[in-house]
Amino acid sequence: MLFAPSPVKTRRPAALLCGLLVTVLLAGCNPSADSTYERDIYAFGTLVHLTLYGVAPERAARLADEVDAELQRMHRDWHAWHPGELTRLNAAIARGEPFQVDPEIRDLIALSQETYRSSEGMFNPAAGHLFALWGFQQDERPTGPPPSRAQVAAVVAEHATMDDLTLDGDRVTSRNSNVALDFGGIAKGYAGQVILAKLRAQGVKHAILNAGGGLQVVGRHGDRPWRIGIRGPDGSGVLGAVELGPQEEAMHTSGNYERYREFDTKRYSHIIDPRTGLPAEHIASASVIHPNGAIADAAATALVIAGPAAWQEVARRMGVTQAILVDDQGTVYMTPEMQKRVRFEQPPAKIVIGQ
Ligand code: ADP
Ligand code: MG
Repeated sequence: MLFAPSPVKTRRPAALLCGLLVTVLLAGCNPSADSTYERDIYAFGTLVHLTLYGVAPERAARLADEVDAELQRMHRDWHAWHPGELTRLNAAIARGEPFQVDPEIRDLIALSQETYRSSEGMFNPAAGHLFALWGFQQDERPTGPPPSRAQVAAVVAEHATMDDLTLDGDRVTSRNSNVALDFGGIAKGYAGQVILAKLRAQGVKHAILNAGGGLQVVGRHGDRPWRIGIRGPDGSGVLGAVELGPQEEAMHTSGNYERYREFDTKRYSHIIDPRTGLPAEHIASASVIHPNGAIADAAATALVIAGPAAWQEVARRMGVTQAILVDDQGTVYMTPEMQKRVRFEQPPAKIVIGQ
């Protein structure tokens, strides 16, 4: 789990602050206050924090307005249950009809197919019916008992996969009308990439977009690298920190701290194993650093499902060389390349290195 206490005087509502999984540890750096511009944006159901460095304040404010507008548009277009472009696509799939998509949704589908295959089906954004069955396609946290075995088995038997879709230019067709796309596990990563690309195209050299659970960075914070905190297994405290940049890179974390349901003292993760239809267990959080934000986001979700037994194999297949997982016992699993980058605050009870 990633987070970073804010050093700035900007006030944020406490409830929103709690939703911030990834934080930038700016304390200790000493860049001139005038050079740092910060903006909180509410999008993708979470608090998104934009930090620009080395941009004149008026220009930075204009850029932040543009980022805000872009994020709102993406949130609308890619929402899995609020009416928009994606729900129109899903409705066409359900009717067995082809649909013309815009270049971004096309990209999201192509990236989802790639990560579906490389994760051996663990990352499967076509399984929207399964996420809905568990109550994770609604704005409020689900309550009450979990779905029955028979309900779960029925939805798993739909076999909705990313391989059911065919992209022909901007035309999407599905051979399975049960496919329901839900980009919850990849959209923020993809959005980070789109936003950073736009900022860079406008000459921004140093920036972080921190979208609660995932962030994308470029450049440095003054004379120091951007420093990111990783939360401990129970979601509180700092487990360790990594430095990101100056090349563009992303770090994404998936876990069950923020989105889950509870019944009879059992907690059910919002990350669902498409093979069994059941919520992932054992991994409290998985974080991945990768140059491509969408792949980092998808891989973090897949590694939670892969768990202690399969994470190394899935990371290898997904081309992920920098990953760290924390299980429900506090054991830390990480790749040698991640080991080189992490500085632990509190030494973990047990560390397993592997790739
Ligand atoms: P967060 O949204 O908290 O950053 P994730 O990136 O792990 O966390 O995404 C979780 C979301 O991804 C779920 O809410 C659901 O929309 C979707 N999801 C759940 N399980 C899977 C899966 N196996 N494959 C792809 N997407 C998934
Ligand atoms: Mg993800």
